[in-house]
Amino acid sequence: MQKEFVVIGLGRFGGSIVRELIDQGADVMAVDIATERVDEYAAIATQAVVADTTDETVLKSLGIRNFEHVIVAIGDDIQSSILTTLMLKEIGVKKITVKAQNDYHEKVLRKIGADQVVHPERDMGIRIANNILSQNVLDYLELSDEHSIMEIKVNEKIAGKSLVDLDIRARYGINIVAIKRGNNINVSPPADEKLQLNDVLIMIGADVDINRFEKKVLS
Ligand code: ADP
Repeated sequence: MQKEFVVIGLGRFGGSIVRELIDQGADVMAVDIATERVDEYAAIATQAVVADTTDETVLKSLGIRNFEHVIVAIGDDIQSSILTTLMLKEIGVKKITVKAQNDYHEKVLRKIGADQVVHPERDMGIRIANNILSQNVLDYLELSDEHSIMEIKVNEKIAGKSLVDLDIRARYGINIVAIKRGNNINVSPPADEKLQLNDVLIMIGADVDINRFEKKVLS
């Protein structure tokens, strides 16, 4: 069955979600209160509708209940974002993802039952700062406050060594889950595999351990 989504708010964030979902083959109903925004997405989205989603009658008339996942990407208007989320919840939408402006906004969203709250600017800022600080960390995914999955580039210091030589799991408690080499990805890297310069190690572990490994071994 085709995946079906609703994106409410077609600013930069909501708009890029619509484009990516469509590129990946999903069906998307794009909604915004502003006609010019909706016009922009009429040719891209499966359906594009002008609507004020804080109006319960309007929201119900859109048949949103039948979609499996709704993304609320209303920007600065926190009140509209909260009201929309509350009503989506009341209608019985199964999964709701909401963009939060700040921690207070997030707190309210969680209280009223948003399934997922995202802070795209904050998260991207943290990601870029980490990237700037460390030349070896290419990307990372925060699993909790203390654990992450990181992509680390193999530099001259460890090129030519194997996972056994580095003994990362015993020494640092970090697991290497995959090695990327060019376009290939090896998801069960043999322990005696010699690392090559510019390979990318995908590792999972505690942030403190990954930092320790990075400082001691890579720099
Ligand atoms: P971004 O930071 O992602 O660019 P914007 O603030 O530009 O976010 O975009 C938010 C969008 O949400 C705007 O296009 C705005 O018209 C829309 N929006 C605001 N309130 C409502 C509402 N009540 N119903 C539907 N769309 C809304």
